[in-house]
Amino acid sequence: MKEDLSRLIVLQEIDLQIKRLDDELATGQADIQKRQDVIDERKDKIAKYAATIESSDTRRIELEAEIEAELVHIKDRQSKLMNVQTNREYQSLLKEIEESKKNNKRREEEIVGLMEQNESLQKKVTEQGNVCKSEEQLLAEAGEKVSALIQETQDKKLKFEKTREQQAKKIPDHLRRRYDQLLAKRNGLAITGVTKGVCQGCFMNIPPQQFNEVLKGEQLLSCPTCQRMMFHQPEAKEE
Ligand SMILES: [Zn+2]
Repeated sequence: MKEDLSRLIVLQEIDLQIKRLDDELATGQADIQKRQDVIDERKDKIAKYAATIESSDTRRIELEAEIEAELVHIKDRQSKLMNVQTNREYQSLLKEIEESKKNNKRREEEIVGLMEQNESLQKKVTEQGNVCKSEEQLLAEAGEKVSALIQETQDKKLKFEKTREQQAKKIPDHLRRRYDQLLAKRNGLAITGVTKGVCQGCFMNIPPQQFNEVLKGEQLLSCPTCQRMMFHQPEAKEE
């Protein structure tokens, strides 16, 4: 049993190394993803600005056509002024011309507003576009570093996994099954030290009787709280 116990401890050390490498891989990838998300968000914003600019331009062209049409209308009314018979007719044409001029003034003001808005949006598009470009460049550089790191980490992991396979073979099937189940259910820690009567996996006290058994190391006991397998781990001396 003592031999199995020490083999399980070695296996656990290997598995913790593998877990650490997995965490490193996940952190590296999450960082890249986060930066990509920021860039995507910025691109969305730029696209929205561009869409607003486009619809403003459409509206401006519409208004310009309306102004042209209105000018034709004004000219027509003005030529009619020359041939009116009654004062009433004359007044009515003048009023119509006045109304048309007002309409065009309103349209021109709207065009000015649209152009000002587009100018400031265009500025934002350019600014954000430049920020995006430099962020993408930085991300590409970081991506290369992370890829290299990922490759390195994966190579290390492969080595650990080979060692693990050999180590696992030395452990009896029923123990290995129990170990693997705990490993999956207990966040990568299946066997844990007990120091001064405290389980180092869940930091709960274990009953004194059980602790005495753990001290002997003759049988494989489970923590009553977290069910991890236990071994005695003397207190580390403080520096
Ligand atoms: Zn525990």
